[in-house]
Amino acid sequence: MRLAKVPNEKASEMIPYLISNGMADPGAKIIRSEDSRFVPIYEKREQDVIDLGLYVTDGVTFRRETRSPQNRIKERLAHLPSGVVDELPMKWEFVGDIVILRLNDPAFQYKREIGEAYAAELNARTVCADTGGVSGEFREPKTELLFGESAESIRLENGIRYKFDVTKIMFASGNTDERSRMKNLRCDGEKVIDMFAGIGYFTLPIAKFTGAKKVIACEKNPDSYHYLCENIRINEVDDIVTPIRGDNRLLECTDADRIIMGYIQRTSEFLDKAKEMIRPGGMIHYHDTFYVNEHMERLDTIFSKAFGTEGYRVIQIKEVKSFAPSVSHYVADVIVL
Ligand code: SAM
Repeated sequence: MRLAKVPNEKASEMIPYLISNGMADPGAKIIRSEDSRFVPIYEKREQDVIDLGLYVTDGVTFRRETRSPQNRIKERLAHLPSGVVDELPMKWEFVGDIVILRLNDPAFQYKREIGEAYAAELNARTVCADTGGVSGEFREPKTELLFGESAESIRLENGIRYKFDVTKIMFASGNTDERSRMKNLRCDGEKVIDMFAGIGYFTLPIAKFTGAKKVIACEKNPDSYHYLCENIRINEVDDIVTPIRGDNRLLECTDADRIIMGYIQRTSEFLDKAKEMIRPGGMIHYHDTFYVNEHMERLDTIFSKAFGTEGYRVIQIKEVKSFAPSVSHYVADVIVL
């Protein structure tokens, strides 16, 4: 059987045309997919249909194309042991044209073959396996390349291009709302310090959209620093952002209007440094993890220790994402008095 693929928007005009010009069989069943109709045509008229600019396929390919990628992946790897096939990941994350998936231990011995199958069926350039979250001071991901040449990609989010290597750099997709909130701040003429800049998660939206005059972006991890500099360049904010490679405790500044502390779990250790750098009336965006039922008290304890009970005002505290059972990642906007 030969089938002409007619995009939905052309269907009302094209299908009657194919029938009235003797190219399509008026009695045959037209098959619907999400964006197109597949119209059975007479084989001898195939070239005429192609000349109309339509794609023609056969029934077998059609059935294959309209099956879910999950089924196609399982079918392609059906020769692997059933325990491996049954546990193949049925969801994944795309970063540009790189697929990241979670693979369990028995599947790892077939990693190259599995990577190749996902790449082919998902039309991905590279496939990586996330083998265990993010760890350490530098928040490095445990991610392994399964298939492909390079794990470098560009993620487009909120009008910013974030370039990074998924095997070297973490990218917290759960922080999207916070990156978007930073984009919508009004920072006209301000001097902003991003103490934990990473690849520019908050630096870039602030520099590009908020009217800030200067952003000092400090990052200690050499891999992240490399992409921070690259992202400053590709987002064309070189005139606003000054990247600094090294420990933020060595920064020299006493007049910042705004400080971003985008780090969790050990953030309070850096609050004295933020205090030294912020001007009176300046704003700190303080990230940390707290037990959900005591987040406000914990925040107050940390800030009153650093600034005294009268030395700060909490404008708001907001959950960024859940971190562990009963524990969430929060961000607090705090004005220093
Ligand atoms: N805010 C980011 C997001 O939304 O995904 C995550 C940033 S990441 C958790 C924190 C970054 O701070 C890491 O890239 C780490 O290398 C860097 N870092 C840790 N300690 C630092 C220090 N003392 N000085 C400068 N950078 C530091």
